[in-house]
Amino acid sequence: AQEQLRQAQKMEAVGQLTGGIAHDFNNMLAVVLGGLELAKRHLHTGGPDAQKHIENAMEGANRAAALTRRLLAFSRAEPLLPEAVEAGALIDGMTELLDRTLGDGIAVETEDAGKGWRIWVDRHQLENALLNLAVNARDAMEGQGTLSFVTGGITLAENEVGECVAGDYVTIEVGDTGMGMTPEVLERVFEPFFTTKPVGKGTGLGLSQIFGFVRQSGGEIGIDTAPGKGTQVVLYLPRHVGEGAVPEAAPAAEDASEK
Ligand code: ADP
Repeated sequence: AQEQLRQAQKMEAVGQLTGGIAHDFNNMLAVVLGGLELAKRHLHTGGPDAQKHIENAMEGANRAAALTRRLLAFSRAEPLLPEAVEAGALIDGMTELLDRTLGDGIAVETEDAGKGWRIWVDRHQLENALLNLAVNARDAMEGQGTLSFVTGGITLAENEVGECVAGDYVTIEVGDTGMGMTPEVLERVFEPFFTTKPVGKGTGLGLSQIFGFVRQSGGEIGIDTAPGKGTQVVLYLPRHVGEGAVPEAAPAAEDASEK
């Protein structure tokens, strides 16, 4: 019975993962289709922007290809591919993609209040997580409002946020001026398949997937929200100390000698 339970849990995890990937893939296809649609229009009018839109579509397609490569890597049980990432720079690198994804009515503001701390994290997964949060924010703002990304650094005591261990964290706060959430919605947002969006629009897998990724990366998530007041999602990701490609001994390594 124990083995059956474990098998069932494993199948559930696989189902969640597959759905999460379909969700991301859908976002990327939206970028591809949007770019092609615009390119088509410009071809008709003979405008010079067609090339640019095709390049945008290609970027979306490349992202989708990278995602399927990761899926293959996962099915071979390969781990995440973490590297030292500077959050502010990563977000700056996403501004064009965000502008295209969000549409004209939504302004994007970024503020780097960080201390230059870096994160040891899978860069592509983090980009996907931020893109997912941006799409949620867009939906909550119904086309009008401000999306902000604020990066920072904080030293947390043990369990100060969720189940974090004591230490330095890079924070990435994704804020919107949208409809916000009721306490009932907030309580359930990390549940797989929980969605308040119409059928065909929401899968309910965005936040549960982000939660899984952040926890797997040694981090935590906090959400500050109220109906009519907008939403702030804060990712706490453990600080990477060390210069090179290899992370310096994490706190957990201290007792390695005893094993
Ligand atoms: P989906 O976006 O497919 O519904 P998520 O897991 O990403 O799945 O989100 C679950 C639910 O949480 C959403 O349906 C919505 O009700 C709520 N939600 C998520 N992000 C926001 C936000 N920024 N503002 C308001 N509600 C949100």
